[in-house]
Amino acid sequence: MPSDLDYRSPSTVDHALALMSEAPGGAFLLGGTDLLPQMRTGRRAPSVLVDLKRIAELREIRETADGGLSIGAAVPLADVETHPLVRARYALLAECVSTVGAWPLRQRATLAGNICNASPAADTAVALLAFDAVVGAVSSEGRRTLPMSRFFTGPGRTALRPGELVTDVVLPATSRGFAGSYLRLSRRKGMDLATVGVLVGRSDGELPPRYRIALAAVAPTPIRAVAAEELLEARGPKAAAEAAELAMDACAPITDLRGSAEYRREMVGVLVRRGVAMLERKARP
Ligand SMILES: Cc1cc2nc3c(=O)[nH]c(=O)nc-3n(C[C@H](O)[C@H](O)[C@H](O)COP(=O)(O)OP(=O)(O)OC[C@H]3O[C@@H](n4cnc5c(N)ncnc54)[C@H](O)[C@@H]3O)c2cc1C
Repeated sequence: MPSDLDYRSPSTVDHALALMSEAPGGAFLLGGTDLLPQMRTGRRAPSVLVDLKRIAELREIRETADGGLSIGAAVPLADVETHPLVRARYALLAECVSTVGAWPLRQRATLAGNICNASPAADTAVALLAFDAVVGAVSSEGRRTLPMSRFFTGPGRTALRPGELVTDVVLPATSRGFAGSYLRLSRRKGMDLATVGVLVGRSDGELPPRYRIALAAVAPTPIRAVAAEELLEARGPKAAAEAAELAMDACAPITDLRGSAEYRREMVGVLVRRGVAMLERKARP
């Protein structure tokens, strides 16, 4: 690690933005579970770390006026996973969060850090895409919101502007109560990124139900398989095999040390079919 690294720990968002504008080569720091390993290997060399963990407004989970849920950027994943409103209304997010590393890691790592790092394998991103979450961001130019569907622009890249800070991630009220599963293959349990991740969800108690299929580690960014969702909405679970084919078509996987492109694409098909079958089993009295 560089010995001349500057570390700052502001207590307000305005101060954090001011510090970053003074040091354009700086980086925001949350849990540091992505950033610090990247600095150790020389992939990142920020001139200053602006630690956001002391900023009270970023540490809250609160209901929004229209019945959604805002999760502050500095809330550790462990608190997201165990929060009663997350578990009751957005159980699939709690399930995805619980697959990130191991419990000690999740006491430091955050949701905002997971999406800002923009790994194609980001496990929380599939639930945030499925729930049409919205990212709150602020810069010296003011506040804005970005839909998750437009947040990722490539591996390690996001739609954030230089110096722009994520304040929170908002789950809309309209995405409450999806049932389903996050089916994830990795080389070992805990402490390994997903080789393939497939979320299959269905809105509970709605007729006709809405389906959600979101995929990790099989494209340059986490993605939704929208054509597969629409087919299931039109034809129901009997179209699972065709929906699986459409989800496979939506992928653009690579071959790396975790698996080949062919294996990843095949597994997307298998896991979509399995996810739909699991929904059916749960739905039976
Ligand atoms: C052992 C180990 C196992 C892991 N396993 C998994 C896994 O199974 N699944 C998975 O998805 N990930 C995994 N990860 C990756 C990592 O833990 C997650 O991506 C984590 O959620 C990152 O959050 P953080 O708070 O630590 O982010 P940080 O490392 O603090 O930040 C990540 C990036 O976001 C930027 N940033 C931070 N805050 C903001 C902000 N408010 N606004 C704008 N930019 C910001 C930082 O500058 C940095 O570029 C693992 C990491 C380790 C070390």
